[in-house]
Amino acid sequence: MIIWRKYAQVLQILAAMWLLGSCTLSSPTSAPAGELQAQAQEAASPTVTASLAPETPAPSPSETPIQTVTVAPEPLHFIFPSAAPPPISAWRPPLYPTPWVPTAFDHFYFGRPIGADQVNWPLADYRYGGVFFKDTVHSGVDIDAPKGTPVMAAGPGKVTWVGYGLNTGSENLRDPYGLAVSIRHDFGYLGDMLYTVYGHMDQVFVYKDQHVDGGDVIGLVGETGNVTGPHLHFEVRVGLNNAVRSYNPELWMSPPQGWGVLAARILDSNGSPVARQTIKIYATDSDRTWEVKTYGRTQIGINKDPYYQENMVIGDLPAGDYVVRVEFGQTAARTRVHIDGGQVSYFTFHPKDGFVVGPPPTPQAHFTPPVSTDTPTPTP
Ligand SMILES: [Zn+2]
Repeated sequence: MIIWRKYAQVLQILAAMWLLGSCTLSSPTSAPAGELQAQAQEAASPTVTASLAPETPAPSPSETPIQTVTVAPEPLHFIFPSAAPPPISAWRPPLYPTPWVPTAFDHFYFGRPIGADQVNWPLADYRYGGVFFKDTVHSGVDIDAPKGTPVMAAGPGKVTWVGYGLNTGSENLRDPYGLAVSIRHDFGYLGDMLYTVYGHMDQVFVYKDQHVDGGDVIGLVGETGNVTGPHLHFEVRVGLNNAVRSYNPELWMSPPQGWGVLAARILDSNGSPVARQTIKIYATDSDRTWEVKTYGRTQIGINKDPYYQENMVIGDLPAGDYVVRVEFGQTAARTRVHIDGGQVSYFTFHPKDGFVVGPPPTPQAHFTPPVSTDTPTPTP
């Protein structure tokens, strides 16, 4: 235990050096209008039991048509912050009630920390695992919101941190998270504690050790810490309240009803997860497109889901059919995927074998899905 604590201290120092809530602000590709209110139903036993598999049979690799085209090499580039207000161009339904557990492998235990009447989804350019500026890995997601927007607890739990210095300690006013709150939740995952983190706040309305319920307003959006504009930096941490134990919040925040999540494992020709690979996603029934980058296997603080072992996630996709395009080298391949509401759709891509659409073939050896006796049960 002592060794582990020392290890944790070392990790914390590393985290102070490498991780952050260093987040910037840019225009999202879509934004909401209208009134969205997450339904606060009691849902200790979600009823959805649908399979992860798409409705249509997943084609085998040999059946997956791979269209190869030649493309010009495209250098990686960053999209820098813009002062322009986010466009209001989309509406989102209410969220599924939490905890939302469509399969034994899923864990949408959290609501969203920004209200339904605001933009409450991650900025597309500042997703989990992104590398901003120089060697700065993003250990959470950024949610665009004006200064003063209420920040809500994503689930019930006990406040374990309030103030500056979350990452660097000693009430450090230069801490990248700025004024931050962390919550240790009343439920866990696979026997580990779950924490959420809220960074860059302007004001905080809770105190350490206070118990909060999901949806309680814990403070206001601000621009403290490493930011170039007001927004909320939101993290999910598993097992340890440290940025090195962050996981992709898009696999933990309940989706809008009728909308789903796409996760994938993009491999290089050696079979290793490839980082910073741009994946393009096209809706087949509209002209909407999305871009998302993969995250790597060697980034400190970037962790893959125990089951999905993903290196790419994009949430908030309306149910329907999509085309996914992966570039590798000077070629590209594409396949169709189907998104089901409230569920995770998944594919694997290997440059030689192409796409395999469907859930991961087998859970990792060390992964055991939760059983009824240890399925976390949030307290009301
Ligand atoms: Zn951030």
